[in-house]
Amino acid sequence: MKSTGIVRNIDSLGRIVLPIELRRTLNIDASKGDPIEIYMDGTSIVLRKYEPNCVFCGSSKKVSEFKGKNVCENCRKELAEK
Ligand SMILES: [Zn+2]
Repeated sequence: MKSTGIVRNIDSLGRIVLPIELRRTLNIDASKGDPIEIYMDGTSIVLRKYEPNCVFCGSSKKVSEFKGKNVCENCRKELAEK
């Protein structure tokens, strides 16, 4: 894990602001309310841009929802052929 050297104070409601440079680099758009997934790694908190994965193959490319499940385009095509 790479340190950004950035230190931010958490506010009384538990919020922190993600630095604009990081948001730009990772293509996170705050004005669109992009979802961020929160992970724990030991005593570390890891934030990652949320990208839904296909329930069948785990791909995050061209994923859409079908009956409440995320399915990628390739798996959708395979399903349609069966
Ligand atoms: Zn898939």
